[in-house]
Amino acid sequence: MPENHAFERPIRGSRGSDSESRAALQAIAEGVAEIAGFDLVGISAARDDGYLHTLVVVGPEDARRTLIDSLAPTQPLLDQLEVAEDWGALKFVPHDRLVLDIDTWGWTSDAPRDNVPPGAWHPEDMLVAPLEDDDGRFLGFLGMELPRDGLVPSAAKREVLTIYARQAAQAVRATLERERLAEQVRLANSAADIVRMAAGSDSADEMLIRCGREVTKGLRADSLWVQMLGSDRRCQGPLYVDGGEAVRLPAGVRALLSAHAQRAWERQCVAVLAPDRPMPGVLAADQVETVLEFLAGVGVESLLFVPIGAGADCFGVMGLTRGRHGAEWSEHESAAALDIARDLGRALREHQLVRELREVADYRGRMVATVAHELKNPVSAVLGYAEILAGDPELGDSARTAAAAILRGGERLARVVDDLLVLHGTTEAAPALGGRVDLGALAAEVVELNAAMASAAGVDLRAVVPAEPVVAQGDDGELDHLVTNLVGNALKYTDPGGTVVVTVAAAGEDAQLTVADDGIGIAPEDQPHVFEEFYRSADPAATAKPGTGLGLAIARRVVERYHGRIEVESEPGRGSTFRVLLPRG
Ligand code: ADP
Repeated sequence: MPENHAFERPIRGSRGSDSESRAALQAIAEGVAEIAGFDLVGISAARDDGYLHTLVVVGPEDARRTLIDSLAPTQPLLDQLEVAEDWGALKFVPHDRLVLDIDTWGWTSDAPRDNVPPGAWHPEDMLVAPLEDDDGRFLGFLGMELPRDGLVPSAAKREVLTIYARQAAQAVRATLERERLAEQVRLANSAADIVRMAAGSDSADEMLIRCGREVTKGLRADSLWVQMLGSDRRCQGPLYVDGGEAVRLPAGVRALLSAHAQRAWERQCVAVLAPDRPMPGVLAADQVETVLEFLAGVGVESLLFVPIGAGADCFGVMGLTRGRHGAEWSEHESAAALDIARDLGRALREHQLVRELREVADYRGRMVATVAHELKNPVSAVLGYAEILAGDPELGDSARTAAAAILRGGERLARVVDDLLVLHGTTEAAPALGGRVDLGALAAEVVELNAAMASAAGVDLRAVVPAEPVVAQGDDGELDHLVTNLVGNALKYTDPGGTVVVTVAAAGEDAQLTVADDGIGIAPEDQPHVFEEFYRSADPAATAKPGTGLGLAIARRVVERYHGRIEVESEPGRGSTFRVLLPRG
């Protein structure tokens, strides 16, 4: 018996073949038992990860219970057959050549082992027919024990068994094919669910928790382990089990993970770690031993090891575990797990980028707010003194022109500083949700305040508001700023003789404000950008007017803070309509 596992046998296969496939195999096994005269007959299928999975057993109840659905490593059995007597389709290993532990690979009766005469069946003799498909691919075994006549099979009996072996190969092939198709459909469906969940999660942690459950269910694992790696490619933080509970891996296992995860990702290598199975390419024998020891300690029979990453970078690894009940992994499951790890990797990278961008945006906002704050006092001082200078009656002509220019420049600077403070002041504080503002009354007030300016510009400015209040959620001062900005722009970019109409109405769940003008309009290529900070259209008719390019950025920031929307429709030369929708309060 190989020494490296301390597991109680037998472990079990996870896949239940459909009943029709099993019935066909059962009939063949019964035929062998009946016609060739064996009391114990079994048929097993070779699984992709190196296990042999017993699918049907005909024989004594205790043998059936032990063997059905049990798993045993395939390779030692194939090695054992090297020394078998070759009977064509059948291989016979006499008991004196048997090196396998029969309790792991089969079942023995309690019949006496001593003084078995030549030609008689010894309880530890082994007779199997390796099953192959038409291309010579190994599929599994038909195995026979306990001949009813107590004899090693005669030539005639071997012929009968050869025919059954051929039938068994066909039935096993059909069974494996059906299982494979059913599995592909199941895995494709659950992979699609997982991708949808990963995309919809707000943070990397939430994503791992939500997907954790889905991955475990989809791949029929007992649990999902995730160990993240830091930028230095070493294990970072604890091991997350099923996206929740955090455990620390032993130092030896952490070191192995750190050393091999990146390489596994580069090779896109998914490995099965379980006793007696083919060795995964990335680990050496003693390293596999370390991992197996750890797994045995936590009661895991087999682990599917899958690196998670995106592009050239490995972000971590996931391990899907199975206990003794259902310990084998198919090729499709391994491939699906790697697909999922790639999707998770992409989603993790996106989260990482979003977090970095947010940090940059926050930093920029804080910096702009600080600079604007520092500028405010000196600009006020410059403006104040420029006003005094400009008003001095003793000033000469050229000095008066200079003072007026300083005043204009100072005023412009003060506007930019004020706008920047509003823009980045609004990023800082959390929105005072719960505020309620009658948008109709606010619009009427802004129109009234701008009436003098409108008439000086020769523009007809009107408000169309319903008699009953249209209440929007938001802060009074901020919404005032928003409406004033939109009306100010409409007046600014409309030539004398034009009209500006401000309308407020309830629109379903929303309060709607529109500011429509028949002014210069906005070119289609500028429209997507007018809400960006400092964006001003290249239209000379627009640049001729004073402005900072911050008004609409502020408007959008305010609207989004209250979970609303702002949009523009415009045609150059015909006018623009800005529409704001805010949730009703
Ligand atoms: P500005 O201070 O330049 O007006 P805004 O952010 O308020 O900055 O507007 C950005 C740009 O959008 C303006 O420079 C202008 O080109 C265009 N724009 C805004 N409102 C109107 C409008 N009502 N009609 C035409 N163009 C407009």
